[in-house]
Amino acid sequence: MSTSQIKKEKKTLDEIMKEDKWEVDEKPHIVVDYEQCEKCQSKPCLYLCPAGCYTLSESGKIMFNHEGCLECGTCRVICPLKAIKWEYPEPGKGIHYRYG
Ligand code: SF4
Ligand code: SF4
Repeated sequence: MSTSQIKKEKKTLDEIMKEDKWEVDEKPHIVVDYEQCEKCQSKPCLYLCPAGCYTLSESGKIMFNHEGCLECGTCRVICPLKAIKWEYPEPGKGIHYRYG
């Protein structure tokens, strides 16, 4: 296989992610202690969650939506106030990776 053929078959991250499937667990596998978020100055979850699960409301409060979570665990590691209780979703729920 030539280099140009390999380049043509290379997929973008968006294309790869479209092949994945979510079976959303109604019970969130991540629980955020929003009282801690009020005290958090830097709010790194807003910038480091690759799925954009953390957003700010118009009044400046953290909002969390578990539905697009990639289960990478980043938010649990980077949260400076240990405000995140993180578990895997129930078996068969959450993201199902299909690529690779
Ligand atoms: S990093 Fe942790 S404490 Fe800070 S806003 Fe995000 S979830 Fe809340
Ligand atoms: S586990 Fe990863 S994708 Fe899921 S909310 Fe945390 S940082 Fe975002």
